[in-house]
Parts: sequence; C-alpha cells; structure tokens
Amino acid sequence: MALIVQKYGGTSVGDTERIKAVAKRVIETRESGHDVVVVLSAMAGETDRLIQLAHKVANEPDPREQDVLLATGEQVTISLFSIAVKQMGHEALSLLGHQARIYTDRSYGRARISEIRTEPIWHNLYKGCIPVIAGFQGLDERGNITTLGRGGSDTTAVAVAAALAADVCEIYTDVAGVYTTDPDIYHKARKLQRISYDEMLEMTSMGAKVLHIRSVEFAKKYNVPIHVRSSLVDEPGTMVVKEEKSMEKVMVSGVAYSKSDARITLAGIPDVPGVAARIFTAIANEDVVVDMIIQGSTGDTDLANLSFTVPRPDRQKAIRILEGMKTDWQTLEISSDENIAKVSIIGVGMRHHAGVASRMFQALAKENINILMISTSEIKVSCVIEDRHTAKAVQVLHEEFELDKPLQHEIPE
Ligand code: ADP
Ligand code: ASP
Ligand code: MG
Repeated sequence: MALIVQKYGGTSVGDTERIKAVAKRVIETRESGHDVVVVLSAMAGETDRLIQLAHKVANEPDPREQDVLLATGEQVTISLFSIAVKQMGHEALSLLGHQARIYTDRSYGRARISEIRTEPIWHNLYKGCIPVIAGFQGLDERGNITTLGRGGSDTTAVAVAAALAADVCEIYTDVAGVYTTDPDIYHKARKLQRISYDEMLEMTSMGAKVLHIRSVEFAKKYNVPIHVRSSLVDEPGTMVVKEEKSMEKVMVSGVAYSKSDARITLAGIPDVPGVAARIFTAIANEDVVVDMIIQGSTGDTDLANLSFTVPRPDRQKAIRILEGMKTDWQTLEISSDENIAKVSIIGVGMRHHAGVASRMFQALAKENINILMISTSEIKVSCVIEDRHTAKAVQVLHEEFELDKPLQHEIPE
C-alpha cells in the first residue's frame, strides 16, 4: 500500500463531467488499496477570468484582495469534487489552504510555502476519508490568504507530498507527460520516460509550463518522485527523478522556449567601473529580475552598450528606473523590444560533452535565424532570437539533436 498525492490541473477539472470522472479515478486508486490525498486547481480559465474581473475594477488591483479573489477558483473545484466523491458512496473532505494548515510568507501573488502542519490531513486519512486540498493558496503568519503564483497548484501538491513523505506525487494534466518539447508547438515532440530534477528545473525555468518551477525545487530538495501523466488516458507518463548515471549519455533531452521576456538596450553609458553595479542594483531594488546580460564597448570611445532581458510585465518599470539615470549620464539612450523569444536546449550530458553550443548555433544559422543574445549554464544553452522564428527554431533544434528518437538511456541495454 502506498501513499499517493494526486494533483489534477484545470483542464482535468474543467467541468462537472470531468470532475465526476476524476472522482471515479481517485476512488479506484483508493479501492486498489492506496491512501490518496487530492490537490485540485481551479477549472480551466477560471483564474484568468478572476484576474480580468479585478482589472475591470482597478488597473493595479490591491494584491491582498486579488489573492482573496483568486483563491475562490480552487474553492469551487474542491467542494464540487468532494460532493461527487460522497455521491459515489465514499468519504471526502475539502480543505482550503488555511484549513490544510499550509503556511506561506507574505508575498501576495507569489508566496512561498514555509510550513505545512499535516495533522488535519493525517486525521482524515486515518478516518478513511479522502482529503481534498485547494491548490495554489496558503495563509501568511498574520492570517491573510496568499497565492503561490500562476501554476502554483503543482507546488502545493509536491509540498504536501514532501510533508507527508508520500511515495509519489502524481501530476495529472492535459498532456501524457513531459515531452522533449512543448507538443503544442511541435508535433514530433516525444514523451520522455524519465527526466532528472535538474533538467526539469531548467526546462521549467526556460518556459516549459508543464510544471511550476517551485514544485520541482521541492521535489529535488525532499526527493519526492513526480509522475506527470494524463488524466484522460490510463498510461504511464514521465517520472521526474534523481539523476541516474545513464542520463549523462544524452547531450540534449529537451528544447524549451519562452516568450515572456523583453529586451532593454542601453547605449551611451560611461565605460567606467561601478556602472553595471549601479544599474542592476537599482533594478533589483525594485524587485525586477534580470536574466541575460550583454555588455560591449568598441574601445574607440569611453562609452559602452548594455543589453539585458527582464520579464515583459516589468519592462515599463525597468525603463522608469533607468530614465532616472539620464540626469547623471546625458549620453544615455534607452530602447526596448518585446518581439523576442528565448529558445533553450537542456541536458545533463552537456557536463561531459563539448561542442553542444556550437551545434545549436549552426543549426539556427542554417535557417537564417539570427542570435541576439546567448547564455549558458552547466546543463543548458539559451539563445534570444526574434519571436517570429520560435516554432522554426524549436523544430530545427529538435531535429539537430534527434529528439524524435528514444534517448540513449531510454533504450533497454
Ligand atoms: P495544468 O492545467 O494541468 O496544470 P498546464 O497548462 O499548466 O496544465 O501545463 C500543461 C501544458 O504544458 C501542456 O498543455 C503543454 O502545452 C505545456 N508544455 C510546455 N512544455 C511542455 C513539455 N516539454 N512537455 C509537456 N507539456 C509542455
Ligand atoms: N489556478 C491557478 C492558475 O491557473 C493555479 C494552478 O492552476 O496551478 O494559475
Ligand atoms: Mg499547470
């Protein structure tokens, strides 16, 4: 008998028929002898709808009140689901974030889980009652409702699984697992059998929204195996697990893309020590996260250029901060554009294989795709390109690294 945390995403609980189908599935898991804890998202589209409502009332809705509003989405699904389970003759109890004793810090809209006091969950499990927990929400130390950021129900599920020392956290979604790239952008994307925590972390941080990044951080820290699978078909999905030796044989196991950044370019900044420090300190102090940075100077003048990327919603804020520097640097010119995308290749095998980056650059060059910026980590290479080339870039990289074929560690020896 295992203890399993099952999380169902928005599409899986998108209407009452699906909620009933999920309830049936959960009951089947119970009847096969396992203990189950359920975590649910809001119905597909509901969180977007609530955000739009808030923006009809104010341009910048009060963050505390917006979290109170957004938390209602998950309240609807956990209650409907529990009603369905009871109707099928089993016991279930819905628990909002605070009732499940999920505590977070105070950052509305992107709170981090700090503690889960598991007594209410255990209490229900002992009684033979299925605990049904609202994903995406928690309570701060002052008793305010908080939410964990878009896609945050995954994190609730993995954090609950870690706190209960569950055997596995199953994430049910609208695709059959983690693919070599987003199956929505490239039809030859292939479902992976296994992927390491580190690769999954890079995939999610580079734009693959199949899992919330913090859920993978939790899973890695507490060694929770995640099984990403479809709620519509009953077949094995992808296991996200600790790195295995055999995974190193593969140079690239996935391609990710993101269209959520903007690029800011500064021309005419003084080429003297302390300038980058001043710019990025001012930006960081306003909570804007900078990703890629390129600085250059021709050497002919005492001026330099600097380009960097920020999340699109923070573009105006970053520009406002930089405008303030024009009083000291009269030559400063600021420009920005949002028509960029980031494509990345990811694989733990890169640690041991040279030449991966150059193959990526050549593959893009062959298609006449200009690289605007580059960044690398131990197991990732990312390029910023014009966003109109995104689908093509993903496709050529998928082909270049032969991702439509089983990865070496997936082939039985
Ligand atoms: P849920 O509502 O179940 O949480 P999400 O929409 O958050 O589902 O995540 C699933 C989606 O993630 C898929 O529909 C798919 O388009 C997208 N996705 C992006 N990259 C990948 C990938 N590498 N593998 C699988 N899905 C991916
Ligand atoms: N309902 C929230 C969202 O749409 C959380 C989630 O689905 O994971 O972002
Ligand atoms: Mg999601």
